[in-house]
Amino acid sequence: MQRTEMTDVIRLEVGEPDFNTPDYILEAVKADLDDGRYTHYTPVAGYPDLRRALAVAIHDDTGLTVDPEGEVVVTVGGASALYTAIMAVVDPGDEVLVPDPGYPQYTQQVLLAGGTPVFYGLREANGFQPDLAELRSLITARSKMLILNSPHNPTGGTISNETQASIAALAQERDLLVLADDVYHALMYDGAYRSIAALPGMFERTVTINSFSKTYAMTGWRLGYAFGPQPIIWEMVKLQSFILSCPTSVSQRAALAALTQSRATEEMVAEYRRRRDWLVAALNDLPGFRCHRPAGAFYVFPNISAFGLSSEEFCARLLQATHVTSVPGSAFGPTGEGHLRMSYATSMESLQTAVERIRAALPGLVSG
Ligand code: PLP
Repeated sequence: MQRTEMTDVIRLEVGEPDFNTPDYILEAVKADLDDGRYTHYTPVAGYPDLRRALAVAIHDDTGLTVDPEGEVVVTVGGASALYTAIMAVVDPGDEVLVPDPGYPQYTQQVLLAGGTPVFYGLREANGFQPDLAELRSLITARSKMLILNSPHNPTGGTISNETQASIAALAQERDLLVLADDVYHALMYDGAYRSIAALPGMFERTVTINSFSKTYAMTGWRLGYAFGPQPIIWEMVKLQSFILSCPTSVSQRAALAALTQSRATEEMVAEYRRRRDWLVAALNDLPGFRCHRPAGAFYVFPNISAFGLSSEEFCARLLQATHVTSVPGSAFGPTGEGHLRMSYATSMESLQTAVERIRAALPGLVSG
């Protein structure tokens, strides 16, 4: 295939904030670098002052009181928190319930641990909520853990309080651990974040994964954290020591500044909400597109099945015809087929140009 340079690409496939890390965080880290002290290994579980600040933030976000000494671990992004949690819990032969569509790392990490991913569907017809009857039917004697992700990548869906309560009851009835991937918890536009770990009887069976990446536009700093019952967190800390030694010193200082100096995310959330409202309406106005209204994260997951093409083929043709990138829904699991993931973590102007280009190209897209 001939390679062509595209100089005017609009990238809606990217899964990270278009904002840079806020200045107050950068200023704090500059001072730390001048200080010169933060160039050494850190404690394996992260700096104690950061863990204490996390315990305060976790209490504010969830109402839970966690022990910064034993129930919190600082990690290298949400990604390493996921990995050490899965490695700590999953033994060869264990089954793990994984959302489909879902963040691809879940499946790969479960496989790396020797476990078996068992997919549960998140469907548009059901508002991308987990289906309780389906979940129940998939649980076997080998089921060890259920992975939840709300707000959700790639659909932007959030789990309702009612569904969350039913899942909590099911986890207790069938003795499942829950891995709650809440990395988008700060990006909710309708309704408020509620942690499943804070429901009665759930803390002792839930590991919550979180991150500074999306909340504070800090993807490149690679800083995340997990909290949960002490025996599992302790196993995660041990794994972290063998895999990574410790999280990065200056990134922890950046995280501490984020938590102690501002924690303000309202402006960013308001801007994402404005873009979501505009993009959902604009996509629904395109012939052949049907777009639900996601309540969180920064993704839309429009249904493009009316075009009769696989999502991969549709994405490829869209790229050629419009120079707009998106991710085929099938990249997130078979139930994602018939959809595209588009991120609105890009400027309003880019979104508007992208939609204009798509509208102009649509008539030729299927035949061409
Ligand atoms: N979980 C979900 C659902 C994600 O979408 C991502 C990143 O895109 C992560 C976890 C990992 O985030 P990070 O490692 O950047 O903190």
